Amino acid sequence: MIDPWSSAIVNYEKLIEEFGIKPFQDLLSDLEDPHILMRRGIVFGHRDYGRIVKAIREKTDFAVVTGMMPSGKMHIGHKMIVDQLIWYQEKGAEIYIPIADMESYSARGIDFPEARRIAIEEYITNYIALGLDPDDKNLHIYLTSRNKTVTDLAYKLAKRVNMNEMKAIYGFSGSTNIAHIYTPMIQVADILHPQLEECGGPKPTVVPVGPDQDPHIRLTRDIADRFHSQFKFISPSSTYHRFITGLTGGKMSSSKPKTAIFLSDTPDVALKKLKSAKTGGRESLEEQKKMGGVPEDCVVYEMLLYHLLQSDSQLKEIHQQCREGSIMCGECKARAAEMIRAFFKDLEKKREKARDKAETILEA
Ligand code: SF4
Repeated sequence: MIDPWSSAIVNYEKLIEEFGIKPFQDLLSDLEDPHILMRRGIVFGHRDYGRIVKAIREKTDFAVVTGMMPSGKMHIGHKMIVDQLIWYQEKGAEIYIPIADMESYSARGIDFPEARRIAIEEYITNYIALGLDPDDKNLHIYLTSRNKTVTDLAYKLAKRVNMNEMKAIYGFSGSTNIAHIYTPMIQVADILHPQLEECGGPKPTVVPVGPDQDPHIRLTRDIADRFHSQFKFISPSSTYHRFITGLTGGKMSSSKPKTAIFLSDTPDVALKKLKSAKTGGRESLEEQKKMGGVPEDCVVYEMLLYHLLQSDSQLKEIHQQCREGSIMCGECKARAAEMIRAFFKDLEKKREKARDKAETILEA
């Protein structure tokens, strides 16, 4: 069982084996210009993504749904979702971004006005600053508590889900509060409502998520099948991305500030944090020259891979230099730190500009 509300690290290989997630690699060549995170294996798995590939190739309607739970600060790991959304926006997708204020209330105790504030100031502002086009007519950002279409659908769908099933999927117990037990139904409705007649009818839909969110995907796919005769839902597709490693080596988490570079950090703080990150370097310079470093165990390399270096050839060069011991961590870190400083400087400016827009974009 995977608990979507914990921040435990997930074993990706096990997930592929045990839960029937397919390797993304297998359909990479079917995409004309796969996203950099797909190309680099960070998006590692999928369910039924072939439908989305087809829709992209044939330029037919499809939707992307990916929510945010407004409960804390946005860190650089969260940027991965936005990067993918921008790519989907370029492909003409209908984009739905539910803000899970009901979930943050039931699971984290955050009240509704505060969730709204966090969503606007922290998340939506950063989404726009990172490059999501706020003026796209196909973009829908809404608070789940205010979206009657979603809450009504959730209620209807809940009629055919029972407590034993919720216990088996999420591990809920007799002491779990009922609001928390119900919120997965809201997420199911978030994912399926783009297929209602009033939203354009059945269409392929993809949900890009971290693997910890897979329980919601499995539940949604089951329910979509159960209600097929009534709503003609097409079972939603999903993709799964690896999590970025935290600065200290475990998972990057907003609730553990030492592990994270927050998007609201100043350029100098981001630089300092990166300089303090765990590397895959050896005990001594001598040893590193002789044996080379281990980029696969290096947070700095991961930052380059996920976020900072767009050029595959430059990335390959650093990987090679690290492996053969011709570059030392000090120099390599200093280079990456300058890159992150430049990135954060630019983001800081863009965030200033995005602020006003973020205030007005909420649909409900
Ligand atoms: Fe990481 Fe660079 Fe050191 Fe290699 S040389 S372990 S990539 S910091």
